[in-house]
Amino acid sequence: MTGPTLVVGELHDGALSDATKEAVSVAQSVSGKENVVGFLAGSSPRGPAAGFGRCGVARALVAEDPRLDGVAGAVVAHLVASAADSLGAELVLVGGSTFGRDLIARLGIRWNAAVATGVTSLTRTGASFEVRRPVFGGRATETRQLEGAHAAVALRPHASAAPPDSPGEVALTPVPLDGVPASFWAAKRLSVEVVSRGAGPSLTDASIIVSGGRGVRAAENFRLIDELAASLGGAVGASRAVTDAGWRPESYQVGQTGKQVSPQLYVAVGISGAVQHLMGMISSRVIVAINSDSTAPIFKVADYGIVGDLFQVVPALTQEVKRARGQ
Ligand SMILES: Cc1cc2nc3c(=O)[nH]c(=O)nc-3n(C[C@H](O)[C@H](O)[C@H](O)COP(=O)(O)OP(=O)(O)OC[C@H]3O[C@@H](n4cnc5c(N)ncnc54)[C@H](O)[C@@H]3O)c2cc1C
Repeated sequence: MTGPTLVVGELHDGALSDATKEAVSVAQSVSGKENVVGFLAGSSPRGPAAGFGRCGVARALVAEDPRLDGVAGAVVAHLVASAADSLGAELVLVGGSTFGRDLIARLGIRWNAAVATGVTSLTRTGASFEVRRPVFGGRATETRQLEGAHAAVALRPHASAAPPDSPGEVALTPVPLDGVPASFWAAKRLSVEVVSRGAGPSLTDASIIVSGGRGVRAAENFRLIDELAASLGGAVGASRAVTDAGWRPESYQVGQTGKQVSPQLYVAVGISGAVQHLMGMISSRVIVAINSDSTAPIFKVADYGIVGDLFQVVPALTQEVKRARGQ
């Protein structure tokens, strides 16, 4: 395999998402800085595409059309595959969001690519690529070789650092839309209803997460979790016991049937560490467990453990974090 790497961008609050910047960083280390090309589709991609320049990317392709904000992934996959072909790209990289995973699956077919999702490391080995990723709910790490002319990879969020922001410029090249089959435009989004949007970072983007479990005992006690998360500048998560009890909406749930997260720091408070919960957070960089039962399974995966009553430990910890951060 030879050729440039195409990084497909995604927006978060009108700017390139952190996951996109992390993908740029991985692309630069695999292909060399000058061999990375950005791609962004949307109704007004030119402004946010400038973010590629600030990550050290000199060239980006932009697909601009009002319809691109709400169409099914088929159109974007078609545009990315065509752009990758005309560039002679060997690798397409994207952040591991719902958008990214959907795109990668489509590129497997449309671009005849070897695909992998949830990837935590990517290296070039001769003419192919080698990826590593957690499997079996994080209880093992798989190494996989991607052979063939094309590879398409969705990265696990927070597995790599984004490049430092620099004042670089990016040259934008428009992507033609006339080759997209008419039927691909047929499925389009009519509306988006935000179910819940709390203060602070979203669960999947957050680099710090504090999650509460059944040990918190009641919905009103969850403010202890909120306060610790706020003092750390992190997001709040929950176990399924909590969402089943209605103490927090389902959107807070971390685990097999909830969100898959991999923050820099995951604090599990009053959570036993059932395998279904671990499946959602095991690849967090540092895990801290607070639990009154020293035999709780969560301590087997924790880097740091506090055996104690959360009603004493958490307020003391919050106070100490606030003091240390001058809050
Ligand atoms: C198909 C399937 C899918 C599932 N998907 C998910 C999922 O996505 N996410 C998920 O989380 N679960 C999921 N579950 C449920 C999972 O099996 C567990 O039941 C759940 O994770 C338990 O939540 P918990 O740890 O909060 O509660 P518990 O297991 O009841 O643990 C509560 C913990 O709090 C501790 N505690 C109690 N009081 C205190 C105190 N005062 N101070 C400190 N610690 C205290 C206890 O020692 C205990 O360890 C799934 C189950 C199934 C069958």
